[in-house]
Amino acid sequence: MRTLITNIGELTTNAAGSATPHHAVQDAAVLMEDGLITWVGRADEAPGAEEIIDAEGRAVIPGFVDSHSHLVFGGDRAAEFEARMAGQKYAAGGIRSTVAATRAATDDELRARLRGFLDEMHAQGTTTVEIKSGYGLDVETEERLVRLAAEVTPEVTFLGAHVVPAEYADDPEGYVDLVTGPMLEACAPHARWIDVFCETGAFSVEQSRRVLEAGIARGLAPRVHASQLGPGGGVQLAVELGAASIDHGTYLTDDDVAALAASETVLTLLPGVEFSTRQPYPDARRLIDAGVTVALACDTNPGSSFTSSMPFCIAVAVRDMGMTPAEAVWAATAGGARALRREDIGVIAPGYRADLVLLRAPSRIHLAYRPGVPLVERVWKDGVQVA
Ligand SMILES: [Zn+2]
Repeated sequence: MRTLITNIGELTTNAAGSATPHHAVQDAAVLMEDGLITWVGRADEAPGAEEIIDAEGRAVIPGFVDSHSHLVFGGDRAAEFEARMAGQKYAAGGIRSTVAATRAATDDELRARLRGFLDEMHAQGTTTVEIKSGYGLDVETEERLVRLAAEVTPEVTFLGAHVVPAEYADDPEGYVDLVTGPMLEACAPHARWIDVFCETGAFSVEQSRRVLEAGIARGLAPRVHASQLGPGGGVQLAVELGAASIDHGTYLTDDDVAALAASETVLTLLPGVEFSTRQPYPDARRLIDAGVTVALACDTNPGSSFTSSMPFCIAVAVRDMGMTPAEAVWAATAGGARALRREDIGVIAPGYRADLVLLRAPSRIHLAYRPGVPLVERVWKDGVQVA
């Protein structure tokens, strides 16, 4: 069936060849057929269709591509958040309490939770999500987490190297042996990506290199958590290994920025983390002006960023990180697609997947201008309405 969305007041396409990467078309229409976009142009030149949706002058953007989340876990850490807001400092080790709750949960409990988060994300305009493991930290549970994630997305990341579990506290190298050996063997069949938390309190640069190189040898592509809590060698390692993305990047040296600008590695900024941990925001303006490709993602997780809202992240990125609304929407759509090395999403043009969001607003600017307001009216994924 052919579905035409017409009378679109402002259409953000992100299409190559438009005047700027953030160019928006006025008075537009989009045709969808068999899950793909088949035509984009002026509303008064639109072809016929069996189903016609009148956007009534409102804005349409590509579906959000959330390239960083941790959606398979048990329990929550509301009490830790409350304590942190009362002045306690964030440290990476809080992950261990989620590990205990995740190991204790059944597959069905984790699956029901995961589906709930996906519904939340669809309702807020997200049509593609990457999901990481990392709350199992033993072979059996990590395998469960990547297997459950693979039920709902092809963008599955094995993050056994999230933190050293309590039982390996005296033998972190032994844990790296486990991650790069039996755990990788069990998880690789369900995953596309290998990731590591390269940070003081988690894994050193040398340990991170071992993890990433083992994953690459097993056919996984690398992405890296780095420079969240302080500067370190993770960015340079990610660039050297050709990682699709380095995520966080709150503390970057000038050399890090120059290396990223000269590379194909995307820097994925996670404003929900700085918001929820009261850390200083990264300066997105500095990065974009230096030529770094920037993506925005939610990093949905129970410890440091329990939001699943891309509109919220866009609002914070504009308010506190120096991005324009157009840049933030690009980073949350086409930027996320780059961070996942996907060439079929994040853009509204013929041949791309029909992943679209109709906003209850005349312009994408409203996503930042009206923070906290539910502006997502309708959402299509592969041409099927999901919210
Ligand atoms: Zn993360």
